[in-house]
Amino acid sequence: MSGLMLENVEKSYGAARAVVDVNLHLPEGKLVCFLGPSGCGKTTLLRMIAGLETLSGGEIRLDGQNIGHTPAHARNFGMVFQSLALFPHMTVGQNIAYPLKLRGVDKAAQKARVVELLQLIQLSEMLDRPVAQLSGGQRQRVAIARAIAAHPKLLLLDEPLSALDAKLRESMQVEIRQLQQRLNITTILVTHDQREALTMADIVVVLGQHRVQQVGTPMEIYRHPANEFVADFMGSGNLFSATALGDGHVRLPAGAVLAVPGSETRAAGEALRLLVRPEDVLLAAPGEAGLAGQVTFVRDLGATVETTVACGGVTLVALSTPRESVGVAVGQAVGVGFAPGACRVLAG
Ligand code: ATP
Repeated sequence: MSGLMLENVEKSYGAARAVVDVNLHLPEGKLVCFLGPSGCGKTTLLRMIAGLETLSGGEIRLDGQNIGHTPAHARNFGMVFQSLALFPHMTVGQNIAYPLKLRGVDKAAQKARVVELLQLIQLSEMLDRPVAQLSGGQRQRVAIARAIAAHPKLLLLDEPLSALDAKLRESMQVEIRQLQQRLNITTILVTHDQREALTMADIVVVLGQHRVQQVGTPMEIYRHPANEFVADFMGSGNLFSATALGDGHVRLPAGAVLAVPGSETRAAGEALRLLVRPEDVLLAAPGEAGLAGQVTFVRDLGATVETTVACGGVTLVALSTPRESVGVAVGQAVGVGFAPGACRVLAG
């Protein structure tokens, strides 16, 4: 099978397990994000793919070939780390040409490739500038140009944007994504930033507690989290407990009964965890929606308004537009409903 295949990949440091039983197929030409909290094993997994870390178990195959014992330098993968690791005493051109020089590419071909890459990253006029004299965003682009100079089979990016300020980071996310799509280069990006993963990835691999928790498109991960860990980590969801009634309804802690499709598969009396996204919590006049609630907090974010309501013994956050939220105030009684199919029963 083409692309990168990980089978039962494991890494332990002594008794401590850093990566447990990872099975993944990363298709050619896609951008895949390894997303997860600090310490979950993202970097270790990336380093094993790069050949910078040995495997404690399992296999890694590229286009069907086992590369587990191929040394890093022979894998022809491009890498960008958080630190970028550019050579500060070298010019932009020398930095980008470095991997070509290592591979013995002749001077003329090196020069032609550097010129081509500088055009691609829109820094043609910076050829002879020392990298120490570049801005953060420019340095970022040079690091990426250097990583792709030798036409790598795989581009590996380990939190490459985490040192940038929020605004630059967002524009670099779009820039890297466009470049990756234009070059159609298979890319793995490690990040702990959910928004970054959702913005950039074709496929998101959510890692937690050293294991793969879910693999899916950004929309699948956000809309249909496989379990509570993913739902919680993707953030901004309302997670709450209820009791199954066995007939497609659930009982909230304060007694209100609510229809939740999917809950009929659970036995009556079983404790459930439910998820509703804030944008699917709909506020109405009292009595006009299923549940009776009371506003406890209003947070005006400019383009959106977050309204916290106490309802049925749980606390929910509703996200709406300023127009929908005119006159909403703390202490107010409201009706609370959910968009059709929005309230989901979580596994596990
Ligand atoms: P972060 O986002 O903080 O970089 P991460 O998800 O990339 O975290 P890893 O750096 O892969 O996590 O680490 C996974 C686990 O393996 C952690 O518990 C870490 O302490 C452990 N670990 C990583 N490298 C080593 C090492 N060389 N020796 C011992 N333990 C290690």
